[in-house]
Amino acid sequence: MSTSKINIAIDGYSSCGKSTLAKALAKELNYVFIDTGAMYRAVTLFALRKGLASQGTVHSESLIAVLPEITITFKWNDDEQRSFVQLNGETVEREIREMDVANHVSAVASIPEVRKKLVQLQQKMGESKGVVMDGRDIGTVVFPKAELKIFMTASPEVRVQRRLTELMAKGQNVTAEEVKGNIESRDYQDTHRAADPLRQAGDARVLDNSNLTPADQLTLALSWVNESV
Ligand code: C5P
Repeated sequence: MSTSKINIAIDGYSSCGKSTLAKALAKELNYVFIDTGAMYRAVTLFALRKGLASQGTVHSESLIAVLPEITITFKWNDDEQRSFVQLNGETVEREIREMDVANHVSAVASIPEVRKKLVQLQQKMGESKGVVMDGRDIGTVVFPKAELKIFMTASPEVRVQRRLTELMAKGQNVTAEEVKGNIESRDYQDTHRAADPLRQAGDARVLDNSNLTPADQLTLALSWVNESV
């Protein structure tokens, strides 16, 4: 394998294991992992705290007006061996995983001004290559020229079970029904929005991990990396 670094774009539906694969690839290749969903979640947390989102509704105009007040950064966490998202200097990794954020994030992410701000930041982070970024528009909008694009998918049952296990491990009191409803509604909104909807890039490799272990999917993705550098 050559030593030149590439950018790896990972897109796909909610709870397909994108972050798991991205984290593992970054560790293996000594690349930087960037969870762009965490950035949209952080903006959503800001909106909720300011009362600009509630009960499924987001006040777009008011949120757009305060966007300059929002600074999103990442800070390395030694214990987890990855970076945590920060909202105006505060680490909000735990707060952004709560259901209230999950229930409003797709509406926030459909606002073109929000996307413009975050896409610019993401493109800057990828300038020197060596980045594994996961999200919904990475291979189509953020890095349309990424050397390797992976589009991930998994069966609905597997996805619900994975997200439920993850949330319960974090001590969140949620039911399978709630998780299923949230995943379905986010997928619908993410694929149907006007601004940068989730879609598979023409040159993406599809990875269905319904029946793959994390180790299996890493091996497969690494073989693609080898072909792409
Ligand atoms: O990846 P995660 O499930 O944490 O993303 C949360 C939400 O953020 C997605 O459902 C989607 O609405 C939005 N998102 C996006 N574009 C990205 C990453 C996430 O619109 N690149």
